Amino acid sequence: MRKTAGLALAILLATPVTAISMPHVELAVHYQPTSEAHNVVRLTATNFGPGNAYVMTYQTAFALPQGRTTGRWIQVRTESRRDVAYKGRWVVARSPDAASYTRISPGETITADVDLDTEYVLPEQGTVTVSSSIAIMDRMPELDSFGEPETVPQEIVESETIEFSVRAGSSAGKVPAVNAVIQCNVEQSASTQKAITGAQAASYEAVNFLSSLYYMDPFDPEDPVVPRVHMKPHIRYQYWFHEFDDLAPQPPDPGAMDTDNAMVDQVVFATYTRLIPGARTVCDSCPGYHPGARAWNEGDVIHLCPANFLDPVLGGVTSQAGTIAHEVSHRPDGEAVPTRDFPGVENRATAHALDRYRAVRSGANYEYFIMNVPLGKSGAR
Ligand SMILES: [Zn+2]
Repeated sequence: MRKTAGLALAILLATPVTAISMPHVELAVHYQPTSEAHNVVRLTATNFGPGNAYVMTYQTAFALPQGRTTGRWIQVRTESRRDVAYKGRWVVARSPDAASYTRISPGETITADVDLDTEYVLPEQGTVTVSSSIAIMDRMPELDSFGEPETVPQEIVESETIEFSVRAGSSAGKVPAVNAVIQCNVEQSASTQKAITGAQAASYEAVNFLSSLYYMDPFDPEDPVVPRVHMKPHIRYQYWFHEFDDLAPQPPDPGAMDTDNAMVDQVVFATYTRLIPGARTVCDSCPGYHPGARAWNEGDVIHLCPANFLDPVLGGVTSQAGTIAHEVSHRPDGEAVPTRDFPGVENRATAHALDRYRAVRSGANYEYFIMNVPLGKSGAR
């Protein structure tokens, strides 16, 4: 039953527009250098359909609070097809309201210019390819009693991929920094400490839970090969990451560390080990951010916005501890591939509906898996 529902959602997310009511939006990326910033791209989204189109603004590069991107919404790759590292912010925003969406009226074009030098670790020279994608809806979702938006049909619109030569000498990273760090009050400091401890405990439990699912073929002294590892099927793993791939390379096979199977272990383990010494957090008034923004992190510092403290410290669908675990999973420290946020993931149902490739790379999925957010009678399925 659960599987069928997931499959239907996955199809809904993956299928190009078929419903007559879905808006027709086209997304384009242009290379738009200026005399100071040489590696700027301009994104445009144009509504060619007869009805309004909506995007969740913070899941696109159109948001730009404080002039900065809210996630890796633009894909930048080198000539050898490697992802260029994203060094920008990752924003966690929850309980979206009308102001969280951008309406694109029929005939309207929305535009954003992004200085890739500010947000990405561009190579010094060579060619990069750039593309983006956004999730389009024909209406704004309502919130359910858990504060999660309902799932409305979405169409993922991809831009064409453009290519340009990186030009050095750019006034890189010249977006003026806004420092709005404030002193946490006593309650905020106390709840953050509890949230960090809660995220530590949850990620430790998640590491142990994962280990408990693995088992090995019996060792045969007559045939001394490295025993193969398998995974006992478990709904908690499958709901957030789908099926363990029993046929994927395993140690000592080449490529064993680069499989989707290995990715889950690496990210969960890295989240746990990063949290052992705690987490660097500051309270921030987050001016320019939407009031639903819970936090943003850059590097290894998590900026907690006022709305963070409206969430329960632990428990519930979303929590302050979950926000910490989520942000820590994005950290680009080389311990694991940094998780990403994917367009269209705005509740548990849409996180669950990601295909395996995306699910094992999605910050939201790790948050839900690690916090073991209860499934079931939530309205999210
Ligand atoms: Zn995120």
